Amino acid sequence: MRLYPRAGLVTTAALLLPLAAAVPAVAAPPSTVTAYSASCPTAGVVSQGYSSAHDGVDIANAQGTPIYAVGAGEVIASGPASGYGQWIRILHDDGTVTEYGHMYQRDVAVGQQVQAGQRIALMGSEGEATGPHLHLRVRIGTSTTVRGIDPVPYLRERGVNLPCTPGGGGGETTVTAWTEANVRSCASTTCGVVSTVQANESYPANCWKTGQLVTAEGYTNDKWVELPLRAGGVGYVSAIYLQGDETGNVSRQCG
Ligand SMILES: [Zn+2]
Repeated sequence: MRLYPRAGLVTTAALLLPLAAAVPAVAAPPSTVTAYSASCPTAGVVSQGYSSAHDGVDIANAQGTPIYAVGAGEVIASGPASGYGQWIRILHDDGTVTEYGHMYQRDVAVGQQVQAGQRIALMGSEGEATGPHLHLRVRIGTSTTVRGIDPVPYLRERGVNLPCTPGGGGGETTVTAWTEANVRSCASTTCGVVSTVQANESYPANCWKTGQLVTAEGYTNDKWVELPLRAGGVGYVSAIYLQGDETGNVSRQCG
C-alpha cells in the first residue's frame, strides 16, 4: 500500500492561531494591581531552590525543552547577560518581572507582547551552568540590581505549583511520519541532516514554522515542524512527510 501526505495546498488563510484564554486572577494582590494567573514555565525537576546564595529557582531538563512565559506581559530584555549566558525579562501588569536564564535559543525580542504560556525560548546551559536548566528569577519592579523574591510562593499565589506540567503552551504534541524523511538543522533542504524520521513512527513535536517549499508526490507544502532531538537541540522536518493536515496536526506556530 502506498501512503500519501494529505497536506497539499499552500494557503495562508488556513493559518489560524489559537487564542489565549482569559483566566481570572487567583490570589488577592498586595497592591491595587491584580496579580495575574500564571502558566507553568517549563517541565522538569527543581534542581535548586531559592536561598540567600541563589536568587531564583532552577528547573532542570533536557536541552531544547521549551520554556514558556509565566504570565502575559512585555519583553523588556532578550539577549546576552552576565552569568546567564542569555536572558529574557518580562514585565507583567502587576509590576513584577520574571527573568529566564541559560537558554540556548530565544524566540522573543524586546518590545514584544507575550501571552501566559507562550513559548519564549528553548532550555540550554549557556553561561554559568553545569547542565541544561531554566533559572527563573522574580523581581518586584524593573530594577536589575534589587534582590528577587522566592519564585515558588510567587507562582503558587498565581495558581502554579512547582514542578509543573506546561499546558496549552505546545511542546507536547506528537507527529507521525508517513515515510522516511530527513530532519534538518533549519526549515530548508539546504541545511544539514541532523536526524531522520521513519514511516509510521511517532515523534514529539514543538511547533511549526514556514520554510522552504517542498514538493513530493505531486504535493507542495512550505510548513516545517520543529522536533526536539534526543541528542539535544531541535531539528526541522517538512510537514509534507507527516500524517495529518498541512502542519502535521501541530497547532502551535513557533514563536
Ligand atoms: Zn539558578
